Order: sequence, then C-alpha cells, then structure tokens
Amino acid sequence: MTARVLQVCLLALVLAVVVRSSAPDLSGPVPARPEEVCVVCYGTVGSSGIAYFLDGVRYAVSKEEAPIFLSDPQGYAKRFDEHQRSKRSTLVWGGGLSAFVVALIVVMVRKRRMQRAAA
Ligand SMILES: [Zn+2]
Repeated sequence: MTARVLQVCLLALVLAVVVRSSAPDLSGPVPARPEEVCVVCYGTVGSSGIAYFLDGVRYAVSKEEAPIFLSDPQGYAKRFDEHQRSKRSTLVWGGGLSAFVVALIVVMVRKRRMQRAAA
C-alpha cells in the first residue's frame, strides 16, 4: 500500500518535471492588487484579481479571465507587453495636453484609414 503511494508520487514528480521543462515557466496564482492591469482585457483586475508569474514576470488577470490567459499565456503576455510599452512611451512623450493631441491624431488617422477602406 505504502509502496504504491510512493510509486504514484514518484510518477507525479517525474511528470511534473517533464511538463515544467517543456512548458513556459508559469507559477501562481497569487492575489493581485485591484488596480493592476488585466493581461487579457487591459482593464483593472478588481478585488478578485489574481496574478501569475511567467518566466519571472508578473501578469495580473481578472479571475474569470484566467482560463483565457492560461490557454495561451505566452501569447497574451507578449501582446500585453507590446500594449504596455506603447502606452508607456505615449505617457513619457506627453503630459495632459500632448496626450490629448496624440489621441486626436490617432482618431484622425483611424478616420482616414476607414475612409480609405470605404473608397
Ligand atoms: Zn480582464
């Protein structure tokens, strides 16, 4: 009986090691702060938010969206990093007024693109 339990434990351990070495280094979840930005929808995660560590980098996610994130953690993390980077550079580039100007330009470019697509 004890030997069987040990065998199962050993098998689980071996499996865990195999899975770990082939999959990305994902750990968690740990509780997230409510103001943390969700890796899936880019909103704040709220009071039920959780956070995962992917290759040592922390990513917060709304609890109900965690399965979505876990279906493709690397993909979501990559998109999130790109999203955060562009957001950060915009913030550095301008304060209140220039951010407003950037937003206006973005809206104008989008409109122009839409017109071009319609033509
Ligand atoms: Zn979300």
